[in-house]
Amino acid sequence: MAATTRLISRLTLVTGGGSGIGRAVCQRLASEGASVVVADISEGSASDTLRSLPHDVRGQEHMSAVVDVSSKESVENLLTSIQCRYFQPASVCVNAAGITQDDFLLRMKEEDFDRVLQVNLKGTFLVTQSFAKALAACGAPKGSIVTLGSIVGKVGNIGQINYASSKSGVEGLTRTAAKELSRFGIRCNCVLPGFILTPMTAKVPEKVISKMTAMVPMGRMGEPAEVADVCAFLASDDSCYITGASIEVTGGLFIG
Ligand code: NAP
Repeated sequence: MAATTRLISRLTLVTGGGSGIGRAVCQRLASEGASVVVADISEGSASDTLRSLPHDVRGQEHMSAVVDVSSKESVENLLTSIQCRYFQPASVCVNAAGITQDDFLLRMKEEDFDRVLQVNLKGTFLVTQSFAKALAACGAPKGSIVTLGSIVGKVGNIGQINYASSKSGVEGLTRTAAKELSRFGIRCNCVLPGFILTPMTAKVPEKVISKMTAMVPMGRMGEPAEVADVCAFLASDDSCYITGASIEVTGGLFIG
């Protein structure tokens, strides 16, 4: 099937859809025919993404919603609003919501460690659990969960003890969910970006970015759309025998 039509009639949920990689994922999934629920903690940015989505396919219907992925109540409200709007649960979920609160291990405040774990790891747990419950309950034949980890979860990174811990955590979560959810036809995979040009990395000092970019064999930072390409592949049936995997999208950073 052509890449532009492989997600026709799929209902997809993207957290962190208001910015950066999440926004690019929403645009890519919509361009392949999916209906997209753009979910973000910021109502304004989710609405901006919604307005940018194509409606080229008949029956394609997008919506935006506010969610705090670290709150069980907020995640459950989101799933209920999807059911009310579409009379079915989403069959694709991309966990792209994430935050950083960087500092060195010896200076890291407990609340900054906790907040990053709450959003990046617990948030992924809450969304994955609610999404899978809804899909399994309706007896849908297949589903796909794609979670944004990070290469930093594999190799560590100075000043990111909380972030690296959370991103290692989502890989373990994904591998476990893949084992438990296979019997429901739900595949679970991670995408591990390297350094991608988004508002998240815009906060990193120029000096650090130049040093990091110099380490990338491809000699540049990645674009959000290049990560979205891989998310769309994992969402689609083109990856139907892949589960529990982590795919690096790093321009070759830390090969081997
Ligand atoms: P981004 O531009 O900051 O986008 C993240 C989005 O998530 C923002 O819209 C943010 O809203 C939202 N968000 C934050 N907390 C939330 C919450 N509690 N509930 C719901 N939404 C929330 O970051 P990005 O670079 O696109 O990152 C997307 C994902 O890729 C993240 O999981 C990140 O860790 C991962 N990643 C990024 C890179 C990179 O180089 N950019 C590399 C590896 C992995 P606010 O802006 O209002 O906070």
